[in-house]
Amino acid sequence: MEIIRDIFQHVPLPFVIAWYTIGVIAAYLFVTGIRRHIRAWRQGKPERISGTPLSRLTRLIYVGIAQARILDKKYNGTMHALISIIGFLLLAGMFFPILQALVGYLALLFGAGLILLEYKRLGPAGTPLETAWEDSFVFGVIVAMAVSGFLMMGVNTWAWPSPAGNVLSPIFAPLGPKVLVELYPTLFLIHSALVFSLIAYIPNSRLIHLITSPLNTYYTPITVKGELTTPFDLKQMMETGNFDVKVGATEINDFTWRQKLGFDACTLCVRCSDACPAKASGTKLSPMHLILKLKNLELQPPASGRHLHGDVVDPEELWACTTCRACVQECPVLIQHVEAIYDMRRHLMAEGKVDKKKRDLITFLTNVGNTYGLPRADRMKWAEGLDVKLWGEEPNQEFLYWVGCAGSYDTRNQMVSRALVKIMKAAQVSFGVLGNDERCNCEVARRVGEEGRFQQTAMELNEMMNKRGVKKIVTQCPHCYNTFKNEYPRFGGKFEVVHHSQLIAKLLLEGKLKLRKDTGKTITFHDPCYLGRYNDEFDAPRAVIRALSPKMFVELPRPRTKSFCCGGGGGNTWYTVELTKKCSVIRLEEAQQLAPNILAAACPYCISMFEDAAKILGTSENMSIEDIAELVAEALE
Ligand code: SF4
Ligand code: SF4
Repeated sequence: MEIIRDIFQHVPLPFVIAWYTIGVIAAYLFVTGIRRHIRAWRQGKPERISGTPLSRLTRLIYVGIAQARILDKKYNGTMHALISIIGFLLLAGMFFPILQALVGYLALLFGAGLILLEYKRLGPAGTPLETAWEDSFVFGVIVAMAVSGFLMMGVNTWAWPSPAGNVLSPIFAPLGPKVLVELYPTLFLIHSALVFSLIAYIPNSRLIHLITSPLNTYYTPITVKGELTTPFDLKQMMETGNFDVKVGATEINDFTWRQKLGFDACTLCVRCSDACPAKASGTKLSPMHLILKLKNLELQPPASGRHLHGDVVDPEELWACTTCRACVQECPVLIQHVEAIYDMRRHLMAEGKVDKKKRDLITFLTNVGNTYGLPRADRMKWAEGLDVKLWGEEPNQEFLYWVGCAGSYDTRNQMVSRALVKIMKAAQVSFGVLGNDERCNCEVARRVGEEGRFQQTAMELNEMMNKRGVKKIVTQCPHCYNTFKNEYPRFGGKFEVVHHSQLIAKLLLEGKLKLRKDTGKTITFHDPCYLGRYNDEFDAPRAVIRALSPKMFVELPRPRTKSFCCGGGGGNTWYTVELTKKCSVIRLEEAQQLAPNILAAACPYCISMFEDAAKILGTSENMSIEDIAELVAEALE
């Protein structure tokens, strides 16, 4: 069976020679262009990629080839599938007879994809795509390619049975078969030259993502979402006495080869920036532009003299990030924005290039072990009159209740701690607290780039809690939850960690909490980033709210993985950045549209941020901000 068709049918020899000449030149330009990119990636630091090749291959098929993330947006998904998948099939159709028979129909779909792309590029279909003159050039070439292809079909209907060919052939028919046979090679050569020039141009255009995106999808490590990279091992450094380590990214080649490949994989689809709360609140940060700046810097010759910090990235961009992970969640090619931001923050912190508020924060953590700078001796004031037992004060305590800095010191969040104690007592959960031995686990130190302070605290707290026989921790703070669950094990922690939403949901399910009848209040719920996006816990808080108000639970816009950050994560609670509208205000306005009686949350930062936004918007009278523990405690029989 003949499986390779004669693509030079009706094409005379000089045209064939011209075809090969253009093809060889295009291949040369393509290969040298790609080598330039590979050279740039290889100048990055070495990195061993975690995850098995099979697991990464599976993800490549799901995310890279089946385009799972792109397809979750109908318009963009359809547009991209028509252009990329159909484009690929068209190419295959040049060689395989079954697809060849379909080529004419596929070409029509490809044309439809191009129309959708142009519509999107220019704006009417949502946020316009980021365009530059090269994009217009590339788009022009692709359109010319499609048009010349259709004309070929019109001229050569004997070889290309197709709808477009059938429409166009009557226009060409009067020219007669002899002229058409002579015209065909010219059209064929024009069409081929356009295809080859596009191939040659790939390494210099956004089309490079045809190569870099699947590669990045394959090479992105398979890791725990909530665990930051560990830039050095403090314990080992203390044992060897060798503290000579470069911390963070000072220049572009301080990123690893895999991170640099990632910057090069950006498709400019804007999804990350569209989802970014820092961008929405008018800060200097736009994750897509940050990635593009890093990409451009890595492709520039070192002689350009442009430095990462200052020339390319403004520190204000880095501090504006709330580390909410919406960008990473949205990115269809798995670019790791937050990881890069942490690397650059670490450099600023190591060099002491931080403002007074951040310096004060680290001083507070070092001197008094809390983020508020308040006395250690005041840590238990929240529990006055509650008869809360210390850990070890009673036999067989099941849970260590980790109160956290906000739950201990912030007057609003102290109410949540008291509510959780009421719930645990009602359900006869046996627990104890560390009292004044509790101190910040330094999640926030790690997030602002102070890795040494974090690791030292992690080792000390792990040692203390392991020695004291702690096996299970419960906490209302998703940041503490994430850190104990995902980050402390690397430094010796051996506990099961439970968020209070999970414990309360379980107690309700087991019938250990008796609630009064449905209050009839409309409740909506905001997913905290570190509980939802980082730890995939979306159902437990909803189960709690449904138990309280079975018929009156309403979902906020952007629920679950799409949740819009309150603005408090990544250290942002403890310093200020320039912005036009707070994230918490934007989110509260979204909640207001539903006119609920209660906006429920499950994180102390969210509670603080929304209480602040409620004062700004004056919504406190109509819509209260409550932690799910407060709601349950109020509803207890
Ligand atoms: S983590 Fe959140 S705030 Fe930071 S860049 Fe990504 S989307 Fe923006
Ligand atoms: S970083 Fe990812 S989500 Fe953002 S524009 Fe690039 S490809 Fe799209």
